[in-house]
Amino acid sequence: PPSADADAPVHKTILLGDSGVGKTSLLVQFDTGRFQSGNFSATVGIGFTNKVVSVDNTRVKLQIWDTAGQERFRSVTHAYYRDAHALLLLYDVTNKLSFDNTRAWLGEIREYAQDDVVIMLLGNKADCGGERVVRKEDGERLAREYNVAFMETSAKTGLNVELAFMAVARELKCRQ
Ligand code: GDP
Ligand code: MG
Repeated sequence: PPSADADAPVHKTILLGDSGVGKTSLLVQFDTGRFQSGNFSATVGIGFTNKVVSVDNTRVKLQIWDTAGQERFRSVTHAYYRDAHALLLLYDVTNKLSFDNTRAWLGEIREYAQDDVVIMLLGNKADCGGERVVRKEDGERLAREYNVAFMETSAKTGLNVELAFMAVARELKCRQ
């Protein structure tokens, strides 16, 4: 049927986090239900995927932007944060540095994003693909400290991938 929600707002949602944490893989898993192993090109640049999800019979439109980690050093990123409605900040549970760097990412977010931006911290690669070095409790503690939502995910197995995006969509729905 002709969509009754043609005027429904599009929520700009950005995937952030160090290079290699699984941003592209997470988006591919959410979009296609598949895991494609091997590194995706970090130089592909900034692109987005449109997804419409249903939350309590309301359609919520997400425009999900994937970034390469290096882009945070460019000024373009700051302008790009400013109109974001939601941010999914990933680290890799098998990479301590990526976890430690989330503080810097959260600092940038505080500085450049809207005050009411929806933030979800995700500990990705929570599967048996590598040796875990970041405990779930550490992620939970950091999330509490910054007052953001938290989940562990696996772009490989699909663990919590749908759930993470749905939680963000649910939060955004309350604001549309
Ligand atoms: P990005 O740089 O953040 O976009 O990370 P990529 O999506 O390119 O993933 C980097 C590497 O980690 C690739 O080799 C992926 O196959 C792998 N990877 C991504 N997500 C997962 C995951 O959830 N589990 C495991 N075991 N590997 C993953
Ligand atoms: Mg990528």
